[in-house]
Amino acid sequence: MGDLCLAVDIGGTKMAAGLVDRTGTLRSVATVPTPPGAGAVALWTTVAELVDEVRQAADGRVRVCGVGCGGPMAGHGETVSPLNIGGWREFPLRQRLAALTGVPTFVDNDAKALALAEGWTGAAQDTRDYLAMVVSTGVGGGIVLDGHLLDGRLGNAGHIGHVVVEPDGRPCVCGGRGCLEAEASGTAIAAVTGRRPADASPAVVERTGTLVGRAVASVATLLDLDLAVVAGSVALGFGRPFFEAARRELRYRAAMPFSAGTRLLPAGLGAEGPLVGAGAVGWRGIAGGWDGGG
Ligand SMILES: [Zn+2]
Repeated sequence: MGDLCLAVDIGGTKMAAGLVDRTGTLRSVATVPTPPGAGAVALWTTVAELVDEVRQAADGRVRVCGVGCGGPMAGHGETVSPLNIGGWREFPLRQRLAALTGVPTFVDNDAKALALAEGWTGAAQDTRDYLAMVVSTGVGGGIVLDGHLLDGRLGNAGHIGHVVVEPDGRPCVCGGRGCLEAEASGTAIAAVTGRRPADASPAVVERTGTLVGRAVASVATLLDLDLAVVAGSVALGFGRPFFEAARRELRYRAAMPFSAGTRLLPAGLGAEGPLVGAGAVGWRGIAGGWDGGG
């Protein structure tokens, strides 16, 4: 048994930690609900206890710590301000975890982490130009181009949830209007229909898929992508009719010869994706720019 990455996934609903080896295998997973409405200190205490529990199972073999966290963030993960965790604004998560674990620590956006994971052991293996996105409570994304995960100026590249799909649409948490997240997230569906996404009508499923396909078409054309991988409880819960609607809209909107063949697939990793992705963030960090793959 070789070196391990202590992987941490920070979400608005739950927090998880596990150990990821250099082949992308995940073990010793522990999860805890994110304390609703908690302040910065209580949130940190929850994370620290979770990390300590998993670290004990590693038997001293943790070389690095990798974290996936909701955006936005600053300084490439130095501070985090997740939209869906109100108690953390400019919280110094990387520094706190580095002090707790005593190993090099890297923090990145959870959807960018998922993009790394899908390229490593999921549905985007052997693909050098792709988008991975999550359609769940919110909508997030990460982009791999020319085989490299895009970071952007502050680490926020890939925020497809705030691409406009309905110019006169609903107000968004970001301050904009008609963003994909404001129209197609689980939060938006619940607000518009008064029902949980799991109880959505066929018309809502089709509209959600159509809007996701619309956003993917713009991004795929802009960046010359081969593939879009879609994860998240809303997308995967809707299943086939969602993906059919998304592909139909993608074909209709992405009409350039190079973009007409862009594929759109369900994510390959399921529930393990976020922690495998956090593990990839850690290994990428100590490799100084490794982007997944063998
Ligand atoms: Zn927005």
